[in-house]
Amino acid sequence: MFFFLGLIIGSFLNVMIYRLPRGETLLRPRSHCPACEHPLSIIDLIPLLGYLFRRGRCAYCSEPISLRYPLVELLTAILFVNIHCYFGWTVHTLAGLIFTSILLVVAFTDIETGIIPDFITYPALVAGLVLSCFTIGFRDSFMGALILGGVFLIVALISRGGMGGGDIKLGAVIGAFVGIPGILLVFVFSSLLGGIWALALLTSRKAGRKSAIKFGPFLALAAWMVWMYQEELISLYLLY
Ligand SMILES: [Zn+2]
Repeated sequence: MFFFLGLIIGSFLNVMIYRLPRGETLLRPRSHCPACEHPLSIIDLIPLLGYLFRRGRCAYCSEPISLRYPLVELLTAILFVNIHCYFGWTVHTLAGLIFTSILLVVAFTDIETGIIPDFITYPALVAGLVLSCFTIGFRDSFMGALILGGVFLIVALISRGGMGGGDIKLGAVIGAFVGIPGILLVFVFSSLLGGIWALALLTSRKAGRKSAIKFGPFLALAAWMVWMYQEELISLYLLY
């Protein structure tokens, strides 16, 4: 059930990923092919299977469909199942489904357009703070948002544009969902992942020392890992 829920939500996340950075509204116009603008039929709209059935190409103009569509749908489904298996029928699961959806939209809009839309981060911050009253507690959530958002703001000021406004707001959202002390782990993991990626780009000469890297996807990945496995990560740390 959670797998199918994930497929349907993932399909909706794809619409958000495409439309939000372009300033389009979510419900109108009907979904259409980005290349030929032809409205999509019911078959095209079936998550995952639509892509397989059309063999990855638009049925009307044969332009390839971005692999991101089935990828996001499958990823959402797998993560939803994972969360439900772990937290059962709890508010934690509900918070997890919402947090996962937010992170997926943010990561993929950042990868494709370099934008983390306010349309996502502002409501997400409110959702994180409200849900915390039933999960990690409002105080931890509020402090988490304040501290992680604040730390990224300082990084942005020091690096003079090395970190964007979207990353700062995303930091606050993650803080609200993960809380204290999880934000410390998020900070360490995301810096580590982003650092390795930057190093790989530098050594392969795909980027110069001055080019900005998209930090959103690493932040999202680290945040999800910490939200999901915080206790295991901390006990692993204490063990060694
Ligand atoms: Zn087309």
